[in-house]
Amino acid sequence: MQPRNTWPDILITSLLIALPILALGWATGQFWPTVAFLLGAALAWNIANLLWLETWLRRGGRAEPPDVRGLWGVIFDQLYRRRKRHEHRVHRLRQLLERYRDSARAMPDAVVVLNDDLRIEWVNTMACQLLGLDWPRDEGQRITHLLRHPEFLQFMERARESLARVTVPSPLDDERQLELRMLPYGDAQYLLLARDTTHLHRLEVMRRDFIANVSHELRTPLTVLYGVTETLEEELQEQPELARSVQMLREQSERMKLLVDDLLLLSRLETGETTGPQDWFNPFPMLQKLTEEARVLSGTEGHQFVLDADPALEFLGNPNELRSACANLLFNAVKYTPGGTRVTLRWQADADGARLSVEDTGPGIASHHLSRLTERFYRVDAGRTQSRGGTGLGLAIVKHVLARHDGHLSIESEVGRGSRFTCLFPLGRTRPVEAPPATVE
Ligand code: ADP
Repeated sequence: MQPRNTWPDILITSLLIALPILALGWATGQFWPTVAFLLGAALAWNIANLLWLETWLRRGGRAEPPDVRGLWGVIFDQLYRRRKRHEHRVHRLRQLLERYRDSARAMPDAVVVLNDDLRIEWVNTMACQLLGLDWPRDEGQRITHLLRHPEFLQFMERARESLARVTVPSPLDDERQLELRMLPYGDAQYLLLARDTTHLHRLEVMRRDFIANVSHELRTPLTVLYGVTETLEEELQEQPELARSVQMLREQSERMKLLVDDLLLLSRLETGETTGPQDWFNPFPMLQKLTEEARVLSGTEGHQFVLDADPALEFLGNPNELRSACANLLFNAVKYTPGGTRVTLRWQADADGARLSVEDTGPGIASHHLSRLTERFYRVDAGRTQSRGGTGLGLAIVKHVLARHDGHLSIESEVGRGSRFTCLFPLGRTRPVEAPPATVE
């Protein structure tokens, strides 16, 4: 509410006091001394009020203001009201902040507020329980001085830019797994969130182990079955009816064998179980060999192959895994495109990194499939995939191989024009070789 304008009242009261005194002074012939007396009294009154005001403000302005009349009374009153309103607002903000803190405290996840320098500004109770932080003792400490797991340190180095997430063992108990996330918050602050994902992690390990074990157990009986059907097929050449059934048996057991092999490879890649060490090697001869194998696979279909590879570009990685990824892409280009299609295999590096790509001028893939192609068993056309011997695991294998080599897969495709599958690797994974190998064409 706007305070009432008190000027007219004050003016009238002042005049009512001053005019009779001046009239008296005039009547007694002491007009000017009376004027001087009035001015002096007004000055003394104002100085006294100024002193009161200063004393009142110096004491914090919280006590009731002095009971003064006139203009000074209005000033004291307004200052006092403002002060009260301000205190009320601060109180409400404090309550609001406290409520936010209470809700953050009650969260089932750990919450750590960090400043731009990754120093702790606030933590909730769960952060103390999950991350072993001590509040308020750790206030102002750099989080990277308290949590020292190498993966966590690596994550924190790039978290401010990429705001990714990471799963690391709990600093209090190696058996427990924590998923950590960083989010920008407020003014140059970050929220570090952590939740216990031990349960999920165990389920994931169980799933992987189950697939690996089942695949492993199935492998031997399938190999036997496949071998027997092959022999039987030869034996039964005289009985075409039976031979036909046995041929179907052989084809199906071969499909199952391929599936089991891919599942085993995938689970090995997933669990990080190495298929061999990573080292510097020149992929060029391997790419030449793969092109020849693709030519054999194409057979009479007559795909045209172009190898456009840098013969003097070495790669830091596992040759078997890179071969497997490249073979999947190259053989897909043969399997899923009609005869006569041109297939180009490239291996090159530029300032942005190294690229291994397989490009075809085949039928292409509709855009809504692209984001799902690397999912296990995802097929664009299930019938065609199976008839071409596909397991639906090829691109999932490629994705895992790339992840183990700090790379990623980019898929571009246009229906009717063709597809390009590109494996992108950081520059640090490549280096030029001094002398190109003798096998260069
Ligand atoms: P698979 O192991 O069965 O070949 P992938 O995971 O390698 O399965 O491929 C998934 C699907 O992507 C395939 O079923 C196929 O439909 C499609 N695909 C892959 N490569 C190409 C390509 N070069 N051209 C058209 N479709 C492709």
